[in-house]
Amino acid sequence: MSQLVDRFNRKHDYLRISVTDRCNLRCVYCMPPEGIQFLKHSDLLSYEEIEKVVKVGASLGIRKLRLTGGEPLVRKDLEVLVKKLSQIEGIEDIALTTNGIFLAKKAKLLKEAGVTRVNISLDSLRPDRYKEITRGGDLQRVLDGIAASFEVGFQPLKINTVLMKGFNDDEIGDFLHMTIDQPINLRFIEYMPIGHADEAWKTGYLSLLFVKEKAKQLGFELEKSEDVYGNGPSDNFRIRGAKGSIGFINPVSDHFCSSCNRLRLTSDGYLKACLYWDEELNVKNYLDDDEKLKQLYFKSLINKPENHEMAKVMNDETQSHQPTVRRMSQIGG
Ligand code: SAM
Ligand code: SF4
Repeated sequence: MSQLVDRFNRKHDYLRISVTDRCNLRCVYCMPPEGIQFLKHSDLLSYEEIEKVVKVGASLGIRKLRLTGGEPLVRKDLEVLVKKLSQIEGIEDIALTTNGIFLAKKAKLLKEAGVTRVNISLDSLRPDRYKEITRGGDLQRVLDGIAASFEVGFQPLKINTVLMKGFNDDEIGDFLHMTIDQPINLRFIEYMPIGHADEAWKTGYLSLLFVKEKAKQLGFELEKSEDVYGNGPSDNFRIRGAKGSIGFINPVSDHFCSSCNRLRLTSDGYLKACLYWDEELNVKNYLDDDEKLKQLYFKSLINKPENHEMAKVMNDETQSHQPTVRRMSQIGG
């Protein structure tokens, strides 16, 4: 039973852990073209330190973990961390979010160490465009990562697709098609203004209502699907008779904050109760004292706002708190 309950009675049993802010790609919606000043290796939490934070979290009711980044698979020997985390009493599920580039090489090791499932980010099915969106990525390596994930039995296999106006909104039909023969959960995600409430976001943002309309126009009949396993806020559908399913994650147009069950740990050791706002607490000074670490978990929830206010960015409206200036790769998406 989670003891991590906030003032809006939201129970927190899910911790998303960023293991690095580094990445082998530079996706246009996640990093600025000039790149980002990466942390020094010595600023990152070590695997032992992450293990400590999770142990205390598990004693307070954290049950599910997700490893993310930056790109988690650029951190050396990630399977060593997975093994440690999988042995912590109370932890039931360890998932991974990855761009998939190194997954073919690592899938088996990760599965053996205790990763239960993976989400793979994939924003275009066209090699040239994939390269453009990721600023250099090789689509075939991601497809090989997906194949390897099926082989080792990651279940369910989720694909994350951020839709952006003028970038990949003409591929909606191709993405929907992917779910017919493959048992994947393809999740369309709205583009969020995390750390960059700028014109690029305003012009690139696309409400997922557009996808539902587009699906109809293309002749796909989507029926509601309740059988997708996960912790997420995704609203799931299925094309009749398809092996896979389609999820809609609408953080901007229809936020799901009332059911938020997640906390985040950044790679440099900050606990964040909300992805959007800037409030964060550093765990580094409390690593030798479980009781103080517990108090830090509670403290992180005291001021957790009822919801984010991403949608206000579109009209430059005043917001009730200070939004984060960190980009997604620096927090852990
Ligand atoms: N590198 C890994 C990957 O790409 O899957 C993990 C980290 S990445 C920050 C986690 C997720 O955040 C990815 O699915 C990515 O597409 C998503 N993401 C990054 N920036 C975003 C933004 N501005 N809006 C919506 N999703 C974003
Ligand atoms: Fe890297 Fe993931 Fe951000 Fe793309 S979305 S730049 S793969 S961290």
